[in-house]
Amino acid sequence: MKYKNYTLHNFRDLPQINNLSADEIEAIRVVGNVLPFKANNYVVEQLIDWNNVPNDPIFTLTFPRKEMLSKTHYSKVAKLLQTEEGPRLSQTFQDEINKIRLKLNPNPAGQEYNVPSFEGKKLHGIQHKYRETVLFFPSQGQTCHAYCTFCFRWPQFTGLKDLRFAMKEADLLHRYLLKHKKATDVLFTGGDPLTTKARVLATYIEPLLTKEFDHIQNIRIGSKVLGYWPYRFLTDSDADELLALFEKVNKAGKHLALQTHFNHPAELSTDVVKQAIDRIRNTGTQMRTQSPVMKNINDKPEIWATMWKEQVRLGLIPYYMFVARDTGSKSFFELPLVKAWNIFRKAYCSVSGIARTVRGPSMSCEPGKVQILGVSEVRGEKVFVLRFLQCRNPNLADIPFFAEYNPTATWLDDLKPAFGEKEFFFEKDNLIGKKTEEFNFSWE
Ligand SMILES: *Cc1c(COP(=O)(O)O)cnc(C)c1O
Ligand code: SF4
Repeated sequence: MKYKNYTLHNFRDLPQINNLSADEIEAIRVVGNVLPFKANNYVVEQLIDWNNVPNDPIFTLTFPRKEMLSKTHYSKVAKLLQTEEGPRLSQTFQDEINKIRLKLNPNPAGQEYNVPSFEGKKLHGIQHKYRETVLFFPSQGQTCHAYCTFCFRWPQFTGLKDLRFAMKEADLLHRYLLKHKKATDVLFTGGDPLTTKARVLATYIEPLLTKEFDHIQNIRIGSKVLGYWPYRFLTDSDADELLALFEKVNKAGKHLALQTHFNHPAELSTDVVKQAIDRIRNTGTQMRTQSPVMKNINDKPEIWATMWKEQVRLGLIPYYMFVARDTGSKSFFELPLVKAWNIFRKAYCSVSGIARTVRGPSMSCEPGKVQILGVSEVRGEKVFVLRFLQCRNPNLADIPFFAEYNPTATWLDDLKPAFGEKEFFFEKDNLIGKKTEEFNFSWE
């Protein structure tokens, strides 16, 4: 199948749009001018149930809806649009839009702290937060086959150029990795790195297969291409070349893992996605899955249980359930932490051990990935029990810690230490204040 995308310029050509009201169509235009909007023929024709719009989960995942902006921002943009003429937006309009974007917390959780300096230069295409794993943002992969309305990487796709993470110098990545022998994993991310040509991807990956890079054991690719465009592995012109690259990595003795993003079981239901998964498995590549838990998309335990069971059946390993980050259209998607935990717990209870490889709900916060282990009571005080799944300081992972129970909290920032303490344990003694490479892991 040939890829065709739909953006603000041409979405009105879709016959399916007739299932929407005039207000809903207007919302696509208004919200879509602030947050990036892109859908494609696969998503529109095979994933969205148009009899169920606007509440259909995949419609909500890809098409802007009015509630995704605050009332104030919405009416402001709607008003500004009335005076815009022709396809080119005026400079005033763009300036106003960028002002709104900057109010939507475009770079959550202090990601800029993860950008390393190397050879006297900031490497804006790399994030190195957890010692073992280096994230790399190939500049050619800073787009996706469709855009998620919840995306926390949305500045990658808008005019906020200064906030983008991207790098095209494969050579710098390789030099960086040679200097960081404690890194065992490289995680290619984006956007979606699988929007790039196989040939380009090979320039980043193939050098890692040589003896010099023995310390790099795992090559990971974070991608939503199976959810948004499985034809990438079937009929795209370089599909075979991409699969051959995967096979080569595995044959070279590395572990190749696709960190695949599936937000809803509907994405696992088509014949093409199943064929694509089969072809990837045949190369020896392991697929692990992750998604945020979000109101209006997947806020029911049954949805998660179905998704994990189906993933296991198809040979994928459930890996992470995230709490959506505080950015963009967060208020439309956000859930109290206690609710997220209950969804996780109920889904977890209803699957066998083989699907309980999944961990969550997890918040990617500035100090690390914090998992909500649950709600408990200690000496009469109701508390959240938490732990780091990942931490800037590798010695702090897996240590339980406690926060005052708060039924409306949606992020770590909303929580206070339990038992009247002033700080969480990791806030003491500068335990995480250093740079990633300065921490020494100790077996003690
Ligand atoms: C999640 C994440 C990783 C990968 O963590 P794993 O637990 O090893 O999958 C690496 N770097 C950053 C910044 C992350 O947020
Ligand atoms: S696929 Fe990932 S990077 Fe792309 S829009 Fe969705 S969440 Fe963002």
